[in-house]
Amino acid sequence: MLLREVDYARPASVQEAVRLLAERDGARALAGGQTLINVMKARVASPDVLVDLNDLDELRAIDLASDGRLTLGAMVTYSEVIASVEARARPILGEVCAQIADVQVRNRGTIGGNVCSNDPTNHLPPLMVALGATMHILGAGGERTISAEEFFLGVYMTAAGPGELLTKISIPAGKSDGFASVPIGKDGTCIVNVAASLDGGAVRLAIGCVDAVPVLVKPESTEDGAVRAAVQGANLDPPWDVHASADYRRHLAEVLALRAVAQAAGRN
Ligand SMILES: Cc1cc2nc3c(=O)[nH]c(=O)nc-3n(C[C@H](O)[C@H](O)[C@H](O)COP(=O)(O)OP(=O)(O)OC[C@H]3O[C@@H](n4cnc5c(N)ncnc54)[C@H](O)[C@@H]3O)c2cc1C
Repeated sequence: MLLREVDYARPASVQEAVRLLAERDGARALAGGQTLINVMKARVASPDVLVDLNDLDELRAIDLASDGRLTLGAMVTYSEVIASVEARARPILGEVCAQIADVQVRNRGTIGGNVCSNDPTNHLPPLMVALGATMHILGAGGERTISAEEFFLGVYMTAAGPGELLTKISIPAGKSDGFASVPIGKDGTCIVNVAASLDGGAVRLAIGCVDAVPVLVKPESTEDGAVRAAVQGANLDPPWDVHASADYRRHLAEVLALRAVAQAAGRN
């Protein structure tokens, strides 16, 4: 199907992008277009104006600070994360980006677009929650920061509201992370995915595809019994569909949580 007629703007600065987004109710940011253009073609979304972020080099930076904090610009693509020396400070980022779809999607799709679309089956929302990431949002009133666990509000809904732009994601230092998923096909959509991160004795697990937003659970230890108990204690109420029943998704959440924690703890 052809796109409905839409205005197009290609701002030269982040400030201009924010101004354009705030100017019209129907304005939408265009990043890699891997979700947005598809939903426009299906007429599920019909923005009045696309504000193309592709000339904004300041959104493409990857910075590793001396304290180990990694900052990724919203327009960094999955392929750039995979190739980045700095991003290897947190190797799980490249590992997970390499699992997303195919090479075309990885070359165009951006980390900002991934989290801002907040498709509950996407790879990055649970990963960002488990890593304790901070989201930087710019609007007409200036910049604000918000934790990843507060950023995801519902299916396709985030704290980056109309007229606002996610500019970057910063991730605290740390290396003990894991990720496990069961996708529909080799490069396909996840049925369930789980990200784990260890910070000293503390364990953060974020379970994806079982609710509108990633479900954060904090097992008391990395022991299998503690991980199982924490996932069971979350009383998950996942959706069911042609790919998996709710019971099977609950089962996968437990199994994948064990695998993700085992990877983070260096046990596999
Ligand atoms: C065939 C196929 C398979 C896929 N499989 C997977 C998969 O297995 N796992 C997975 O995680 N993803 C998958 N995706 C989705 C893909 O990762 C998309 O790239 C991603 O969801 C959106 O990123 P984008 O840069 O293309 O954003 P766009 O499509 O350009 O934008 C998506 C949404 O985010 C908004 N947005 C983008 N950037 C910003 C910003 N900086 N600030 C505020 N709002 C912004 C846009 O306005 C739009 O609403 C798949 C896509 C395709 C086409």
